[in-house]
Amino acid sequence: MSNYPREPEFEQAYNELVSTLENSRLFQVSPELKGCLPVVAIPERIIQFRVVWEDDSGKLQVNRGYRVQFNSALGPYKGGLRFHPTVNLSILKFLGFEQIFKNALTGLNMGGGKGGSDFDPKGKSDNEIRRFCYAFMKELSKHIGQFTDVPAGDIGVGGREVGYMFGAYKSYKNSWEGVITGKGGAWGGSLIRPEATGYGLVYYVAHMISYASGGKSSFEGKRVAISGSGNVAQYAALKVIELGGTVISLSDSKGALIATGEEGFNQDDVNMIAECKLKRQALDSLYSAEDSTFPSRFKYLPGERPWTHVERVDVALPSATQNEVSEDEAKALIAAGCKFLAEGSNMGSTQEAIDVYEADRKERKAEGLWYGPAKAANCGGVAVSGLEMAQNSQRVSWTSEQVDKELAGIMERCFWNCLNTAKEYYDIAEGELPSLVAGANIAGYVKVAKAM
Ligand code: GLU
Repeated sequence: MSNYPREPEFEQAYNELVSTLENSRLFQVSPELKGCLPVVAIPERIIQFRVVWEDDSGKLQVNRGYRVQFNSALGPYKGGLRFHPTVNLSILKFLGFEQIFKNALTGLNMGGGKGGSDFDPKGKSDNEIRRFCYAFMKELSKHIGQFTDVPAGDIGVGGREVGYMFGAYKSYKNSWEGVITGKGGAWGGSLIRPEATGYGLVYYVAHMISYASGGKSSFEGKRVAISGSGNVAQYAALKVIELGGTVISLSDSKGALIATGEEGFNQDDVNMIAECKLKRQALDSLYSAEDSTFPSRFKYLPGERPWTHVERVDVALPSATQNEVSEDEAKALIAAGCKFLAEGSNMGSTQEAIDVYEADRKERKAEGLWYGPAKAANCGGVAVSGLEMAQNSQRVSWTSEQVDKELAGIMERCFWNCLNTAKEYYDIAEGELPSLVAGANIAGYVKVAKAM
């Protein structure tokens, strides 16, 4: 019995990783790597602090701030900051833990970390956000640096927040460093960083589709259910549309939009959703606007996630938040024909949902659902953050084409690494697709454990 408080999200992420390692040949082949498990489970350092800031009425407000510096075996701690009222240490430890292995899978030299606050940016003015970010960075700046720990965005932290925090760091430390990624293009940000997670996710799935079909199939003509409407979902949707797929759903925390006919979201729709989100409005405001064309093509389901409402699905891309696909929703997606599911969100699926995907893959072989886990499928975002760090160090800016090409290469290598690692450490039956979740966990773990 441990006398420590339960950390359900962190325990879920840890158990998910460990179960795939222990069910494989890994510790028979390399018993020396087993000793690393209890060590890698404990963050190297956790920084917790209070953030006192002034709201627009001049009243003092207080929030909790955190940075989990989980593992620096491969490089400086790297990972986003999440500002959301649900943030607590268990959530940041799960995110930081996932980040260690995700970053390893990019092939770049980055350790793993995560941070954030229970501050809710929703409904706050720009000035309140700025005052919060300065107050947050006043403490965080003591613990980060370009060679120590390089944060970025996550839920609730976009270009605006990154900008305020970078400005705060620069003024507190009198030092221009590539200390945060996801910066604006004019002051050190990398082109394609905003697009990277969504594009990378689609590149990864394109390899899954191609492999499973022996090179015969692609996104062309596929019906793709996406959840979320933030950065990841928007750019995943745009890339799917560019590759000839049909995006049949998007959602936010208040509800889901589902295509009613054959036609899905077009590029203009996605751009309108991006504008709506930039104004920090909910999707239902777009749907119920007087001149909206949405009601003729989509239904809006308040309080719902898309998964049980979409029909004839080929691909599902959960891109909203953790545990957004339950066991029943996983079964509903399979019943709707879904063959590929990959996570744009971190730990988008519950363990029960993963068990459903993996059982289907084993039972129905190539006819079953093939699952691409977050730490592999969404590593494109942090990968381009790594490329932003490289550009900052060299004092150069690469073109969009250059960054996109690097990103595509990283996603391709990540896919083959997961696939080949699964083949190496598991027995694969005739016609069965290798488990990408096992491959991702083992490949990420081996790299980190060897470095440690
Ligand atoms: N928050 C993103 C992730 O979950 C990006 C982190 C980064 O760019 O450092 O991977």
